[in-house]
Amino acid sequence: MTRPRLAAVLLLAMLTAAATEQSTNELASDPDYVARSFRPFQDDVRVRWDDDYFYVESTGLPRHPMMVGIRAWNGQVPIPQPYTGDNAFRFTLRPRFSSTPVSARETLFRGAIAVATNGIPIFNPIKQDGRTDTYLAGELDTFGGHAGRADDYHYHVAPIHLSDRTGTGLPLAWALDGFPMFGYVEADGSEARDLDWLNGHAGPDGSYHYHASKEYPRVNGGFRGRIALRNGQVAVQPRARAVRPFTRPIRGAAITGFIRLGAGAYRLEFGLRGQDHSVHYKLRPDGGAEFVFTDGSGRIRSETYPARAPRGRGRRTGAFPAL
Ligand SMILES: [Zn+2]
Ligand SMILES: [Zn+2]
Repeated sequence: MTRPRLAAVLLLAMLTAAATEQSTNELASDPDYVARSFRPFQDDVRVRWDDDYFYVESTGLPRHPMMVGIRAWNGQVPIPQPYTGDNAFRFTLRPRFSSTPVSARETLFRGAIAVATNGIPIFNPIKQDGRTDTYLAGELDTFGGHAGRADDYHYHVAPIHLSDRTGTGLPLAWALDGFPMFGYVEADGSEARDLDWLNGHAGPDGSYHYHASKEYPRVNGGFRGRIALRNGQVAVQPRARAVRPFTRPIRGAAITGFIRLGAGAYRLEFGLRGQDHSVHYKLRPDGGAEFVFTDGSGRIRSETYPARAPRGRGRRTGAFPAL
């Protein structure tokens, strides 16, 4: 190749790279489109937007069954969360590629990285210890979720089950960098090809988005877009509120039942060493909570929490009954 031609090729390559750097997702910038993706779950999710950001409010509890299928249980249970007002999910309506994309293999082990269109947060597939794949470890229910240390329900895998309501044409979730996440296939139903190391790509129309996958990372593998991080997590995201100190894992427990009794009351059933145990809990209007634990031999123990603990005060105690 002659020198002038080489220079022309290099220049073209640089211009192409610059164009790629500037490209965004036009759909992601259209609040009406973003709002449409949440509409199948409008009974549970409230949305609003301004010039810069899209906001998603929810109680953090899905309609589908929870908890059943967990084989490695941390002892936590789902309670409603105040993901509203200043504590809503937020993502930009002007997603831009970052020159330093972030890998979820290296950071983001705490907090949400995306929000599903039914208002449930999606966390890194790897949990806080930076090593454990929650799915492979048996920590997730049959819908890919579990309750965290503030008794906050969240997914660690993509909520593919939502496509029963959304079809393939709408995103299942929005990553907090503002790019949408689709299921295993494209919006038109065709196969999703050539995903990058973040599980994303520019689709047939040139707009960048993430996909779910059956293998790791299963969700967005980090952020291709610009986003502010603080202390290894997304800086602006809702805070879960605990009603009790966080619990110890209950080794060998397998959750077999979860029943909504109505009016903020729930019953969780689990098997342990061949015996049936249960946790019956009720949230009080004043923000307090009552837990009644029944062990395999019928012994009952109860705990009462007068009101929600201040934010960030979770600490390890023997709060769960000795089993
Ligand atoms: Zn988790
Ligand atoms: Zn795609």
